Amino acid sequence: RGTTPVPPDARPRLTVLSGPSGVGKSTVVAHLRKVHPEIWLSVSATTRKPRPGEQHGVQYFFVDDEEFDKMIANGELLEWAEFAGNRYGTPRRAVLDRLESGEPVLLEIDLQGARQVRESMAEAQLVFLAPPSWDELVRRLTGRGTEAPDVIECRLDAARIELAAEKEFDVTLVNTSVEGVSRELLALMLRRNGDGKTA
Ligand code: 5GP
Repeated sequence: RGTTPVPPDARPRLTVLSGPSGVGKSTVVAHLRKVHPEIWLSVSATTRKPRPGEQHGVQYFFVDDEEFDKMIANGELLEWAEFAGNRYGTPRRAVLDRLESGEPVLLEIDLQGARQVRESMAEAQLVFLAPPSWDELVRRLTGRGTEAPDVIECRLDAARIELAAEKEFDVTLVNTSVEGVSRELLALMLRRNGDGKTA
């Protein structure tokens, strides 16, 4: 990236990947992990029940409500949010340890969480994953064809609001190809804080 030297105080970045539900965040992250298993991804705590095949400590730390309350009370969460009736949060210590040891860190979280990270860590870079088009998002959200029309309408309303959040983000990646977006995301993660600043 040009000839601008990285400032000596450049720190590895915390990168937050967020975007509307149904846009394919977890598919992008799963692909990135497959190609680059060395990339560390924060494991969130959640009160959601495990889906078949999910393991404690791998996809999530599965905790009950009481445990989640304790994590909040003890200040153990960098951010947390309620999503579709369950709570999700990012354990703070592990993220800070990784950043201190010089590794880039990726969080894949919902929009409410992304806003909290923006508030508490100004140096974080917020990446918005956008659908290739509104029609494509509608197709993905209604794809299963099992939901009642009013439920679909409700999800579409939510998606419209979520799309408007793009302007709060530092970078937008359009999810036209999983491979392409994963590559772009990795490139953003490997930029260090201070890169790209004009002297
Ligand atoms: P799922 O239940 O499908 O695994 O995840 C539901 C939503 O929760 C996704 O949009 C995902 O990005 C979000 N999510 C997962 N972990 C966290 C977290 O630690 N914090 C926040 N704010 N959202 C999360």
